[in-house]
Amino acid sequence: MAAIFKCKSVIGVSGWNARFFSTSKQRLSQSYKIVVVGGGAGGCSVAAKFSSLLPKNHVAIIEPNDTHYYQPMWTMVGGGMKKLEQSGRPMSEVLPKNARWIKERASEFFPKENRLVTASGEEIHYDYLVIAMGLQLDYDKIKGLPEAFNTPGVCSNYSTLYVGKTLESLKNFKEGNAIFTFPNTPIKCAGAPQKAMYISEEYLRKHNKRDKANVMFNTSLGAIFGVKKYAEALEKVVKERNIAVNFRHELVEVKPDTKEAVFRLLDDPAGTTKTFKYEMLHVTPPMSSPALLRANKQLTNEAGYLEIDKSTLQHVRFSNIFGIGDCTSLPTSKTAAAVAGQNKIVFDNLRLLMDGKKLSKKYDGYTSCPLVTGYSKCILAEFDYDGKPLETLPINQAKERMTSFFMKKELMPQLYWKLMLNGWWNGPSTIRKILHLGTGH
Ligand SMILES: Cc1cc2nc3c(=O)[nH]c(=O)nc-3n(C[C@H](O)[C@H](O)[C@H](O)COP(=O)(O)OP(=O)(O)OC[C@H]3O[C@@H](n4cnc5c(N)ncnc54)[C@H](O)[C@@H]3O)c2cc1C
Repeated sequence: MAAIFKCKSVIGVSGWNARFFSTSKQRLSQSYKIVVVGGGAGGCSVAAKFSSLLPKNHVAIIEPNDTHYYQPMWTMVGGGMKKLEQSGRPMSEVLPKNARWIKERASEFFPKENRLVTASGEEIHYDYLVIAMGLQLDYDKIKGLPEAFNTPGVCSNYSTLYVGKTLESLKNFKEGNAIFTFPNTPIKCAGAPQKAMYISEEYLRKHNKRDKANVMFNTSLGAIFGVKKYAEALEKVVKERNIAVNFRHELVEVKPDTKEAVFRLLDDPAGTTKTFKYEMLHVTPPMSSPALLRANKQLTNEAGYLEIDKSTLQHVRFSNIFGIGDCTSLPTSKTAAAVAGQNKIVFDNLRLLMDGKKLSKKYDGYTSCPLVTGYSKCILAEFDYDGKPLETLPINQAKERMTSFFMKKELMPQLYWKLMLNGWWNGPSTIRKILHLGTGH
């Protein structure tokens, strides 16, 4: 009955172009030219591009959340430089007006039949599908979490629920270890765990608590950063600021009663653990592609990510499916900046496909990580699939700079809200070409 009512009310909207019909079980079924799953950075920007090309409501976006967050701002929120409210806007305001918003969770994909089902059981048929579901945060894979977030000193910039506790933990810091973790999985913005640490270290210095703090980075990785040029710059930063770096340490348990964090030593075949006392513990959780996606082996690779071609962004088995952003198998650092570099490739190649032409646009793996090193400085890492720096400005961006910090704090949010989400920002490649004219870069 609910389905029938909904059907009538939607058909009443003027200019409605999607096709509606009922299945034999009286289940509402809808059909669109393009369906985008996920209304985050990738989904919203791609949907904006297509909905300005196609007639009204030929594009549908499936997204359950009321609020769209600009997640890169949470680094600043954790350090007290921005408020959490500044990082979010109503989803209804950011999703393209020309597209139909299906405020639901996708719950099952049937790629061979060009359809999916939502959590309420609605069938959504499509000609083309773009999957942009982001990453899932797996705090519960660490013993003692998420409960330990209810106790003092345990915080995480990766979630709206716990980001407020970062500044609170710094304010309440008295004496002991301030530990910043990096999990043993791919994560979004691999620089963010360090950014939280550099900002916190400066906070403790500014508030005359630094001599009572032992700041340490306990990371599952074996290097401070994946790109040599920026790794060298960061190694200098940690040395100068007396930050201890413990490689190949994976957080496996938090014991809030005794304020202890247990780490598995990844290079020890016996799986030995080492326990550290903490006064402050900033946790970056393990992450994975969403469970729903992982459950569909036709769509994913062995690691559970949407398996797309790294150049064209087209699915390797289903030619009418494309992917963008964190949930994909693309072997680049998962960032909103990477999404900006990908959205025009998806748009152009999907249009070529619709016109029956050969896909010719190629993504080079462009990604960027503004490595904020405190309250006024930033190293602006930009690189491609090969880890080759692809810097926009004709200066050495590995140097800590106030201008890079200003760009990260003030310009990038504007770029995101005003240009990228409206489908008008495709990354800085054109600007880079202009600024590097004649330099051969
Ligand atoms: C602390 C932090 C700092 C960061 N710093 C930076 C930075 O400095 N620079 C940078 O470029 N990037 C940064 N990032 C990373 C950046 O935010 C992400 O890489 C980017 O948002 C990825 O876009 P996406 O569209 O793939 O995923 P998201 O933006 O996460 O969007 C995924 C969307 O899919 C929806 N979804 C999930 N499951 C379903 C379902 N079943 N049905 C329908 N919808 C679903 C979700 O609700 C969500 O809206 C940071 C992230 C964090 C957390």
